[in-house]
Amino acid sequence: MKISSQAAPGLLAAGVTLVCGLGWPGSPAAAEKEVSPAEVIAPLPNLTFGSSAVLESCWTKEQLAGAPGDKKISALRAGDEPAPPALACGQEPRPLPAELRNSIRSVKPRDQEKVIALTFDLCEREGEKAGYDFAIVNYLRQHRIPATFYPSGHWMRLHPERTLQLMSDPLFEVGNHSWSHPDLRLLAGATLEDQVLWAQAQYQELRSELIRRPCAAQAGPEELAKIPEDPATFRFPYGTCNTEDLHFLAEQGLAAIQWSIVTADAAKTRTAEDIANLVLRRARPGAIIVGHANGLGHGTAEALPLFIPALLKRGYRLVTVSELLTFGPAVTAPDCYEQKPGDNLNYDRLFDKGRP
Ligand SMILES: [Zn+2]
Repeated sequence: MKISSQAAPGLLAAGVTLVCGLGWPGSPAAAEKEVSPAEVIAPLPNLTFGSSAVLESCWTKEQLAGAPGDKKISALRAGDEPAPPALACGQEPRPLPAELRNSIRSVKPRDQEKVIALTFDLCEREGEKAGYDFAIVNYLRQHRIPATFYPSGHWMRLHPERTLQLMSDPLFEVGNHSWSHPDLRLLAGATLEDQVLWAQAQYQELRSELIRRPCAAQAGPEELAKIPEDPATFRFPYGTCNTEDLHFLAEQGLAAIQWSIVTADAAKTRTAEDIANLVLRRARPGAIIVGHANGLGHGTAEALPLFIPALLKRGYRLVTVSELLTFGPAVTAPDCYEQKPGDNLNYDRLFDKGRP
C-alpha cells in the first residue's frame, strides 16, 4: 500500500489515503513510499497537526481570542439548516490494523510513560447552532497544551473560521464526531455511512478552502502539508455504537476513540472543582479525558487551571489522541459505553421517542 510521505502522521496512524485532489500546486505528492503496518503504529517522529505559520498568517490574536456570545447555544431558524456536503472526492480507505478495530478506551504506554490525551467534543445536532468555548482554547494556547477536538460536521459547517483555526493550530488534532450527532448504535447501512463520510467531507472542504486563501498559500506547501488532509480518529456521539459501526469505521481507517475519564461536564450541577478532583483521582498513564467545548460544558474551562498544572507537576505530558496511540497498545472494548458496558443504553430509548 502507498501513503504519501508528506501526509500528516495522524493520517498515517489511522491509515486513510485520499486519492482526490485536495493538494495544492507544487505539492510534493510524488514523494511516496511503502509503509508497513508495523511502521504505521510505531512511534512516529514529526507528528504534525497544523502550522503556526498558517495560523499566524491568517488570523490576528484578537480574532483567535473569541468573543462574548461565542459560547451560546441557539436554535436554528427555519431555512438555516445546512445541507451536508457532496461526497465528490473518491477515497481509498486503508483499513485499521486489528489492534485498533474496536472502541479505544485508553492506551497502555510502554514503560508506563506518563502521557494523557485531553479531548473536547464539539457536538451539534440538526436544528441547533452550538457554541465555541473560547476560554478552553485560549487556556490551551496560552499554556501550549495539546488537545484533540471532535466537531460534528454540522458544527464545522456552522463554525467554519473556528474549525479552520483549530485545524491550523499545531497544538490541536481535529477528529470526526459524525455529521449531525445521532445515536449511531441505531443506525446502519447508508445512513451510518453518510454520518461518517459527510463529516470527513466537510473537513476536507474547509481545508481546501483554507489552502486557497492567499494568507495560507504564502506560508508555502511545506507548512500546508502539516495540516492533516483528513480526520484520523472518530468519536461516537453519546458514546454509543454497534458492531457494524465499528466495522465501517475500521474499514475507513478511522480509529474509534472513547475515553477512560468522563468529566460529566454536561451536567448543570458540575463544578470546576468536581472535574479537577475527578481527573486528578483517575489520571493514569495512557488515559483519555472527555469534556465539551461547545458551550455545553459546565465548569470545564475553569477546571483546566485546577488540574493541568497539577498533572504536569506529577510528570504527565498532554498529547493528542493520534500521538497517544503511538505510545503503546490500545486498550479496547468490543462495545461502546460510558464507564461500564450497558450504561448508555438509555440513549436508544430516547432516540426511539425522538431525540434526547
Ligand atoms: Zn457529542
